[in-house]
Amino acid sequence: MAVLLQTKYTLSPITNNIPRSHRPSLLRARVTCSLTPAKKSHPNREKLVLEKRLSIIGGFGSHILLEPALAGYAGYILADLGSGIYHWAIDNYGDESTPLVGTQIEAARGHHKWPWIITIRQFANNSHALARGITFTVLPLVLACNDPVVHGFVSMFAFCILFCQQCHAWAHERKSKLPPLVVAFQDMGLLLSRRQHVNHHRHHRTYMSYCIVSGVWNNVLDDNKIFEALEKVLYVQFGVKPRSWSHPNSE
Ligand SMILES: [Zn+2]
Ligand SMILES: [Zn+2]
Repeated sequence: MAVLLQTKYTLSPITNNIPRSHRPSLLRARVTCSLTPAKKSHPNREKLVLEKRLSIIGGFGSHILLEPALAGYAGYILADLGSGIYHWAIDNYGDESTPLVGTQIEAARGHHKWPWIITIRQFANNSHALARGITFTVLPLVLACNDPVVHGFVSMFAFCILFCQQCHAWAHERKSKLPPLVVAFQDMGLLLSRRQHVNHHRHHRTYMSYCIVSGVWNNVLDDNKIFEALEKVLYVQFGVKPRSWSHPNSE
């Protein structure tokens, strides 16, 4: 025989640190206590067994982990798009005298002249400028906002942007020189592959495939000529020609 007991205390003190938006569903988690005879054959020596059952289903139902995880996944997907937009901008506009990003523009132009150099430069050399930009944008966001969903998105987005030049360098490296896990992720489409990035360097009319995290956006942007349309809009509005209209990739 089981006797069900129910605590008279509410869970509210535990949830004080949980964002208000998650509280109602968190309260669906319940604790059930029951008193159960240990052995029916020895009623005099019955032991009372206390069972505490925490409903894991209730925990998952609260979305306390699911929502930040989904936000992180969105950050990973959108970081690829962000890397493509930034790469397109510095490949096509501005020069070494452009404020804040002049050195990045110069480095991007150098990369199109000598693409293999990215594979022999150290990680810090490839990524320090991105790290500096991320520090000054992410830190205020993290300090200003205490929402785990925002943190999930921002942290994954920033992580992917920070490492996008490393993903780019791996896409220029021969498979035989890469760690097996990186090759597996490239083959699965989780990281930018050499097969996909080569489109960016061999097209002589206009640049393509700018995205350098996973490359998941490249086909969408290339097939729909999104960057070409943007270039035409900017040319009509401001009279500025992108470098891709006049410079072959090999320059
Ligand atoms: Zn480029
Ligand atoms: Zn490249």
